Amino acid sequence: MITAHPDDENNALLALLSKGAGHRAVLLTATRGDGGQNEIGAELFDALAVLRTEELLAAHRLDGAEQYFTRAVDFGYSFSREETFARWGRQEVLGDMVRIIRTVRPDVISAMSPEGQYGGQHHQASAILAREAFAAAADPARFPEQIAAGLRPWQAAKFYFQAGFPFGMGIGPPGFRARVDPDPALTTVDLGGYDALLGRTYAEIGSRARSMHKCQGMSQLVALPSAAAGAQYRLADTTLPGSPPSGETSLFDGIDTTIEGLARLAGANPPAALTRDLAALGRDARAAIQGFEASGMAGARAPLAAGLQAVRGLRSALGAWRSRPAWRRRSTCAWRRRSGSSSRPCSWRTPCVWRCWPMTGWSRPASG
Ligand SMILES: [Zn+2]
Repeated sequence: MITAHPDDENNALLALLSKGAGHRAVLLTATRGDGGQNEIGAELFDALAVLRTEELLAAHRLDGAEQYFTRAVDFGYSFSREETFARWGRQEVLGDMVRIIRTVRPDVISAMSPEGQYGGQHHQASAILAREAFAAAADPARFPEQIAAGLRPWQAAKFYFQAGFPFGMGIGPPGFRARVDPDPALTTVDLGGYDALLGRTYAEIGSRARSMHKCQGMSQLVALPSAAAGAQYRLADTTLPGSPPSGETSLFDGIDTTIEGLARLAGANPPAALTRDLAALGRDARAAIQGFEASGMAGARAPLAAGLQAVRGLRSALGAWRSRPAWRRRSTCAWRRRSGSSSRPCSWRTPCVWRCWPMTGWSRPASG
């Protein structure tokens, strides 16, 4: 998710993707909001940027997202996108976006609306640069110094612009109805779903996360459960085959996000052992979910342990596939806690989900 300022993000969607779907959710905010106002203290400019950065990190402790920034300085109100590009440094900020895309290697990228009545020129400028970065990240001729430094080109599968209400919350006090346009060309994501493990809807989690933006006066916003919560996006670009989809309900429609589907990252002819071991992992994951739903952690313990062993075996095998560095760099997997401290083992209080993410730039150990 690419935005212009702290608080532009849709925290409910980040929570749905991260905590509900088990994806790696990443927010790239062009600026740190240093040109804004402060409703709770005297900090302005650089000090305000620090405060807003910390508020974003506090929000992500609830919505589960990771945070990145570009080097753009928020210079306050802007009268045009061209002014924004000039004062941000168009090429530099574009390069920063490309660098993060090549590092994170996302399947899906969303941005704010590049036009329309909502939002300022910063919002539109960030959206235009995000669309350009979607293509540039896949082109080794663009920002070749990043390739020389070890990053690899990356082509995300789908790119969306936000549609409708600018911040996409679709939530509010009792009686509030989300502004949902029934246009089938738009992707409508339901954020009102209840997470039985977390005990809240994703809209509620997002609202609580958003309330961390206290210097922007958001602390009063805490949503009550509502079936009306939703957000809409317009698919602007995709590398998926076939005609544009209609009636999508997820930004990941058409993308294989299964454990078995990770084999596609190894190319057209993945190693047979990789396909076999991923299939075994998939069975372990499904067995863990079924076991947990049937009898709690006691029912999930054995398949979780088997999955953890399989992860370790696969990670060891990755080192042997030296002829396939692309695969080795692209993905690693681990059982991760659905909530709570990363240092605590999985338990009924902190149940585990299966997560995979690219290795480029950093790696994290498997744990259980
Ligand atoms: Zn904004």
